[in-house]
Amino acid sequence: MTDLLTDAPPIETDAPQYNASLVRRLDQHESLATFWVRFDGDPVAFDPGQYMTIGVLVDRRIVQRPYSVASDPAVAGSDGYEFYVRLVQGGTFTPLLWRLAEGHRMRMIGPKGKFVLEPDDDRVHLFISSGTGNAPFVAMMRALLREGRRGGRSSSTVSRTCGTSATSRSSSAGSAPASTR
Ligand SMILES: Cc1cc2nc3c(=O)[nH]c(=O)nc-3n(C[C@H](O)[C@H](O)[C@H](O)COP(=O)(O)OP(=O)(O)OC[C@H]3O[C@@H](n4cnc5c(N)ncnc54)[C@H](O)[C@@H]3O)c2cc1C
Repeated sequence: MTDLLTDAPPIETDAPQYNASLVRRLDQHESLATFWVRFDGDPVAFDPGQYMTIGVLVDRRIVQRPYSVASDPAVAGSDGYEFYVRLVQGGTFTPLLWRLAEGHRMRMIGPKGKFVLEPDDDRVHLFISSGTGNAPFVAMMRALLREGRRGGRSSSTVSRTCGTSATSRSSSAGSAPASTR
């Protein structure tokens, strides 16, 4: 683990391509963390379930990967876009991400993706996912609960993670992933 994080080239601290910052990180354990990335300027609208691509520059080259947004779109602009990320042994980007301190400049583009809820669909939703795969569903549950839509009623939103399951109530729809993706 130590070699993974130290035997790496320097990450550029500033660059014209950077348009965002890592405003907060919360390490769940050594290989799972939550990151919040906020645009310098106006936030970009997205639908729950979509993903953003985040990256940094190393040797003047952008290194970037896509990550599903867990935020409610209503708060992503102010709090930062929330991502659940697993550190990949031998990976290119995640070891770089793990080295970033809060405040580090980044590049973020998006959103992309068509894995979104149908508009005006009031059926009860059952969300099943594991590890960081929770992220798009957390975004959906947060938005449904905020909007007071039927699919977001606490008794009907269920999140299943590896080995454990939990029924989400309105106050727990933002829970972080409990295990690896
Ligand atoms: C739409 C989308 C959403 C995603 N959302 C999330 C998310 O919410 N959270 C999350 O954690 N991840 C998510 N991912 C995955 C994420 O984008 C990255 O793929 C992941 O973080 C690994 O990136 P990395 O650069 O560290 O690893 P990479 O460098 O991409 O390597 C990935 C794997 O391939 C192996 N590998 C790389 N190169 C070689 C090679 N030449 N030969 C053999 N093996 C090799 C590595 O050892 C590693 O096991 C998402 C992906 C997509 C497409």
